[in-house]
Amino acid sequence: MKVLVPVKRVIDYNVKARVKADGSGVDLANVKMSMNPFDEISVEQAVRMKEAGTATEIVIVSIGPAAAQETIRTALAMGGDRGILVKTDQTVEPIGVAKILKAITEQENADIVILGKQAIDDDSNQTGQMLAALLGRSQATFASEVKIEGGKAEVTREVDGGLQTIRVNLPTVITVDLRLNEPRYASLPNIMKARKKPIDEKTPADYGVDITPRLKVLKTTEPPTRKAGVKVESVQDLVAKLRNEAGVI
Ligand code: AMP
Repeated sequence: MKVLVPVKRVIDYNVKARVKADGSGVDLANVKMSMNPFDEISVEQAVRMKEAGTATEIVIVSIGPAAAQETIRTALAMGGDRGILVKTDQTVEPIGVAKILKAITEQENADIVILGKQAIDDDSNQTGQMLAALLGRSQATFASEVKIEGGKAEVTREVDGGLQTIRVNLPTVITVDLRLNEPRYASLPNIMKARKKPIDEKTPADYGVDITPRLKVLKTTEPPTRKAGVKVESVQDLVAKLRNEAGVI
């Protein structure tokens, strides 16, 4: 069973995002970039499936600038078999990404595509759902547990107020949530080995996909800064403040 894992290069989750002076977006100049954290979880899931004998090959795909090759290498060091870099310096919106992934999924004949539930830069949470629709495949989103058996996937989903378990037919599209697993760190020998794994280089045009943006960012603003808190001397002070100032008791 072939598994396709799309990984996005995004601003590192530890970096405090700063908005550009003209409000057109987040300033990415000289900022540390890493693999989208949810995509590390997808890669880990695929590698565990290969270790368990369920998956036979793991193909890693990234759509982005030349530097996205590093993100693919990281996934190869974790256990991916080969990579495809779809190179572009333009911003590709989820619909563009989904169309490219559809073409690759069909070309590769991939049985399962495992994506992150969302990319932490734009928080779109759209690509997996759009991909499943374009492919006409089943989808299981927000997975916190995945079992593959007899041509079906049993997926436990994180939904409001609890967990929901569904069974979908293969081929399918799965998006992963935070609690599915804890991604491994790539060991040094595996990082060295990953350097030799093949990465194909393509462009969106190779897949006949027009990536012209359809959305216009009107403005980007920083969240309002929170006011500093106060320290109280005693429980009595706290109760007095809650009663007289906050009016909550
Ligand atoms: P989004 O819909 O943008 O929140 O992204 C959801 C998931 O789609 C991510 O976790 C990735 O698995 C995949 N994805 C989105 N953009 C890209 C990209 N440029 N390259 C590869 N995968 C992507």
